[in-house]
Amino acid sequence: MKKDKPYYHQSTLTNYYICPHKMVLSKEHSIEQTEPMRNGLLFEFFALGMNPRAKEKYGTEEDYAKALIGRKTPATIDPLKKKAEFIKPIFLEPKNAFITLKYEDKEYFNGGEADYIGLVEYGGKVIECIADLKYTGSVAGWRNYIKASDYFQSVYYSYIVWKMTNKILPFLYVIVDSNFEIPIVSYKLMHFSKENLLQVKREVDFIHNDIIRRPVCSYETCVKGPYNKPCDFLEWCEYGRELISDSKEIKFEELVPDFLNPKY
Ligand code: SF4
Repeated sequence: MKKDKPYYHQSTLTNYYICPHKMVLSKEHSIEQTEPMRNGLLFEFFALGMNPRAKEKYGTEEDYAKALIGRKTPATIDPLKKKAEFIKPIFLEPKNAFITLKYEDKEYFNGGEADYIGLVEYGGKVIECIADLKYTGSVAGWRNYIKASDYFQSVYYSYIVWKMTNKILPFLYVIVDSNFEIPIVSYKLMHFSKENLLQVKREVDFIHNDIIRRPVCSYETCVKGPYNKPCDFLEWCEYGRELISDSKEIKFEELVPDFLNPKY
């Protein structure tokens, strides 16, 4: 058995599909918590309770809530809380929140944390699934997610749970739009075959064996990114920084001619 095996998490692996070098940087650097991230955690807290990992750091629920709320006013908090309470009753086994996932493969560890695993009320039925809450500024943006890698988290978590329990569970994304007082909720219920899960194993093997992890440096990956924002790791990426700085020599006559009166 190899010592010091790498530990893969869905977010680092997902980065590989955008840019393999991003995956390398995401393992070396942690990014600061942004306001949308804090809102997402607060939403999870109101819907599913306190994450046990937060308990170690903050102690009581009250202190955790205070840290997340920060300087937010009731005008921000109350609608968020209302939306979390709207979604809360679908989770029929509230104790099954924040489940640590871990599976040791020959060469590496697979890991993550499922927001919830258990019975959920969905489409007038009760189903057993892995569920993940997303609190987002644009539910509509999910229409653009059509690639397998956009849904990597779901199939990867289902794969780990299968390895841990021998059960193949569907995965339910519960996506709540942060903009509307009357919540807009989108559900994406993902189903998997055994072959899909075996495919994940082959994918992670492929990523693990790629020791070069070449940067994919382009406007699309470094500047725009999949979520319309610059790559989170630009701070530490020489390739992206060079692309952005765009240093070059320019012959004036090669510019797009749009002067209104070019003849003097
Ligand atoms: S800045 Fe660009 S090249 Fe660098 S890690 Fe991010 S996406 Fe990859």
